[in-house]
Amino acid sequence: MTVEAGAPAAVGARLADLEISRAWLVDPASGREGPGEIVVTDGILEAITWLEGAEADGVDAAGVIVAPGFLDLHAHFREPGNEDAETVATGLAAAAHGGFTTVCVMPNTTPALDEPSVLARIRDAAEASGSPVTLLAHGAVSAGRAGEQLAALGELADAGVVGFSDDGAPVRSAPLFRNALAYAGMLGLQIVDHPEDATLTEGAEANEGLIATVLGLRGWPAAAEAGAVARDLAILADVVRDVPGARLHLTHLSTARSFELVRAAKARGLPVTCDVTPHHLALTEEWLAGARRWSWEALDDDGAARDPWRDAAITAAPFDPSLRVNPPLRSAVDAAACVAALADGTADAIATDHAPHTEVDKAVEFGLAANGISGIETALGVVLAAVDAGRLTLATAIAALTTGPARILGDRAPGAGGPCGLVEGQPADLVVFDRSATWRVEADILASKGKNSPLLGRELPGSVLLTVAGGRIAYEAAEA
Ligand SMILES: [Zn+2]
Repeated sequence: MTVEAGAPAAVGARLADLEISRAWLVDPASGREGPGEIVVTDGILEAITWLEGAEADGVDAAGVIVAPGFLDLHAHFREPGNEDAETVATGLAAAAHGGFTTVCVMPNTTPALDEPSVLARIRDAAEASGSPVTLLAHGAVSAGRAGEQLAALGELADAGVVGFSDDGAPVRSAPLFRNALAYAGMLGLQIVDHPEDATLTEGAEANEGLIATVLGLRGWPAAAEAGAVARDLAILADVVRDVPGARLHLTHLSTARSFELVRAAKARGLPVTCDVTPHHLALTEEWLAGARRWSWEALDDDGAARDPWRDAAITAAPFDPSLRVNPPLRSAVDAAACVAALADGTADAIATDHAPHTEVDKAVEFGLAANGISGIETALGVVLAAVDAGRLTLATAIAALTTGPARILGDRAPGAGGPCGLVEGQPADLVVFDRSATWRVEADILASKGKNSPLLGRELPGSVLLTVAGGRIAYEAAEA
């Protein structure tokens, strides 16, 4: 393949001209992938040519890929309130480095995004950053995310939020959750719940099971998530009878039982969607003990989790605080369920739950470390590792990063829910990455201020060469 572009331009500049020939194009909107060429002129995707016959010889999905820009439903940019951990500007730069052209931030800032003035501040920061990446936001479900009274949902909807969430925490109160689903449904927006029965997770540190027991960490039961999912679904089933527009999105599901519940709910026609994170599908609880193999390598032939000590799979120091995350890294069986849910459509999207933290908040004993992984820049590499291992198809992976999340946002998605990305005559919104090139995750390579990644030092497949958002350059690798 060849890439012909004009002189390197600054982030935010219109992409004057770009020609990529003999690459592998993935277009999840049409369901098509194959050898092809694209031409971008003055920011507009002027031509897409699919190559056939002899012209296509020697072009395969193992090299340079062109796909629509990715959409992240769930990221934490920490502004306002904790700009030491991340700002809107550094978050958007990290997103572009990861191939994302649209990011929905979560409202657990300080102050919380529970009224339009906070949204205006975040939008101003995005504008000032010069990044062409589209920033969308969820509003809080409850005032101050305190879980007591509904936030100003109507005003937030008018101001343009894409949904409502108290993420960082569940909506504990069932009556409040019920009212929120109904009211948001009347406004045509979904409630995004972080499903966790907090009465079961007080003081919890690691997924309940052998690993937590051996390490002496307090167990975090899978039932805390599945129980909350069941509650949410039961309330949704009630609310949709009166409010047909009510919609529920369950974020960062991590247990096999949760997917069984969502699968059954979807089969009954309930308006529920869900996402999984890259870390829950590829990493497991055994990383806490110092194992570093992917989740699919930690399964035996019968689909049961292997014992990392018996396998002599421990290669790193235990208790790395960058692995502390909510929900916790689960068993290899649960991770396999995340992958299976993506493959069969039970899970609609991959969302990063990018959660940058300062070193001060992470460099403490495991149980005291802040929850979260800085993951928006490593998401593609982790997902491609699953593709390389034959656990996911490239088409499923790309759809879960583009059309899947766009469908959840509906008419609040960029392009109003229309086809993602590879559309002739529209501003180019795409990512170009080299699947054959690996890159080493290093703190100084990450554009995010959050260096809290358990993947530091690891080689990941899929180096992003170029990210173009709305016809403008969002990220360009030095060698592209
Ligand atoms: Zn959460």
